[in-house]
Amino acid sequence: MPFSELQQQLDVRAAQGLLRQRRTVSTPQSPHIVVGGTPYLAFCSNDYLGLAHAPQLADALIGGVRQWGVGAGAAHLVCGHFSPHEQLEQELAAFVGKPDALLFSTGYMANLGVVQALVGRGDTVFADKLNHASLNDAMLLSRAEVQRYRHADLAHLESQLQRVTSGRKLVITDAVFSMDGDIAPLPELLALCEQYDAWLLVDDAHGFGVLGEQGRGSLSHFGLDSPRILYMATLGKAAGVFGAFVAAEAVVIETLVNAARSYVYTTATPPALSVALLESLALIRGGDARRDRLRALIARLRQGLQGLPWTPMPSDTAIQPLLVGDNQAALDLSLALRERGIWVAAIRPPTVPAGTARLRITLSAAHSAADVDKLIEALHDIAR
Ligand SMILES: *Cc1c(COP(=O)(O)O)cnc(C)c1O
Repeated sequence: MPFSELQQQLDVRAAQGLLRQRRTVSTPQSPHIVVGGTPYLAFCSNDYLGLAHAPQLADALIGGVRQWGVGAGAAHLVCGHFSPHEQLEQELAAFVGKPDALLFSTGYMANLGVVQALVGRGDTVFADKLNHASLNDAMLLSRAEVQRYRHADLAHLESQLQRVTSGRKLVITDAVFSMDGDIAPLPELLALCEQYDAWLLVDDAHGFGVLGEQGRGSLSHFGLDSPRILYMATLGKAAGVFGAFVAAEAVVIETLVNAARSYVYTTATPPALSVALLESLALIRGGDARRDRLRALIARLRQGLQGLPWTPMPSDTAIQPLLVGDNQAALDLSLALRERGIWVAAIRPPTVPAGTARLRITLSAAHSAADVDKLIEALHDIAR
């Protein structure tokens, strides 16, 4: 059996500084984690509001399990669609200002399902070059034509939209770019979609719960409301639990129920998760204090990142990448922080374009100002 070839491929990755390895965390998700027996101050989760370990959510989940048991036992279309799923879908739709919503097991599956259900051969998908991998995979699997436009480049997108005269058109974008932290120009994207009669799929994995009034997400942030917008968000990041949803016009949701393969052919999530998510939604709604704290930490960090040999990227969100460039240099910086008790992930190609390896620093409302100061001091110390 030719496994030696696999080993050679892994060796090549390692030589390029691209080998990926998991580290086992032995404490719950929080800014203070223990890895391999050593405590670290961590800046790498997407738990932006600090809800992943909130006692209210743990209690809600336990209550949900007592009432609903552990497993859903079937797909939604068979007999696995329970009242908590239904109630959560209705509350999510109302919260983000859409007529209807549909739960998916993960954001990855939601993106695969929505793109594959809405476009196919003869249609065209237009995608920002820095979109999340799940959107990239979704468009490739859909068999539609694919046009990738330069990051947030509206003129480039428009030139592509102009050239396509037949089939359905779907523009897809991260709302907050996951590895860069900048926000997509959604009002301008929507205007182009209106002009060229395209749909706009907005992936709000990093905006839901954080941006907009009461954390309603990036549509609320911009005050956007259009039936053309298909809204997707994940529930395992700011919401602190697990899962994802798509919110849209009722006819879109009914289409997804019938045709999204990653919805139809998979077991429903445990109903107890929806019970926990209903509580999470209440915490998000009433979470202005958490969002204020997060905003203050972002400003504090950006201030402190001035004057370093690495470049803070232009981001106002909780994702604050520090551009290093070289893969090994990014790894070395991550390692130097680790030696000082600080955990920040180095992000390398192919997750980001070659030559743009970076530290992806993420902040959470669960961090304190002193935590952020410790990171700032460590970076300046390493730079010296
Ligand atoms: C995390 C993420 C996803 C995938 O969501 P999961 O629920 O983790 O599968 C999709 N899109 C973006 C932009 C993400 O950051």
